[in-house]
Amino acid sequence: MRGRPKKENTRDIVYKVRLNEEEDRMLTQASEWTSQAKSEVFRKALQVYYKSVELNEHLSNKEFEDSGWALDHISQQRIIRCPYSDCEEEFAVDFADYSEEQESEGSMGQRCEHVFDIDDLECPVCRRLIHVRGVISEYPVGAYEYEQIEIDEGAAENE
Ligand SMILES: [Zn+2]
Repeated sequence: MRGRPKKENTRDIVYKVRLNEEEDRMLTQASEWTSQAKSEVFRKALQVYYKSVELNEHLSNKEFEDSGWALDHISQQRIIRCPYSDCEEEFAVDFADYSEEQESEGSMGQRCEHVFDIDDLECPVCRRLIHVRGVISEYPVGAYEYEQIEIDEGAAENE
């Protein structure tokens, strides 16, 4: 019988985490898409978050100021759904092509909010105009904080 490795990876610490409906939907969906247990989705998400915050923590130190290192911003690529009820096509948009950065200083370092207001986005299927506005925020830089994206039918359709 082969012995276990010396450094056992026992998971005997238990957290109870409260989720709202939307977070539960995301967890369930991510679990289904990747065929992984929900707990594994949590652990992977933690690892990604940890690494980005760790990087920010080290690179924001004075000694790194002149090193030429720059923190990568988070992705602003999102799947949005056409708001016209007879279409509802889902397609990808990179809001980095449209957003402006608003920076502010917080206790964890710099916050960077990517703000966009697009009134001439065209649905790739029905070709109608879509109005999308919102914000994707990273805080500290490199780590996802929150987002709010509103999608409406374009102005031209309402005239
Ligand atoms: Zn459409």
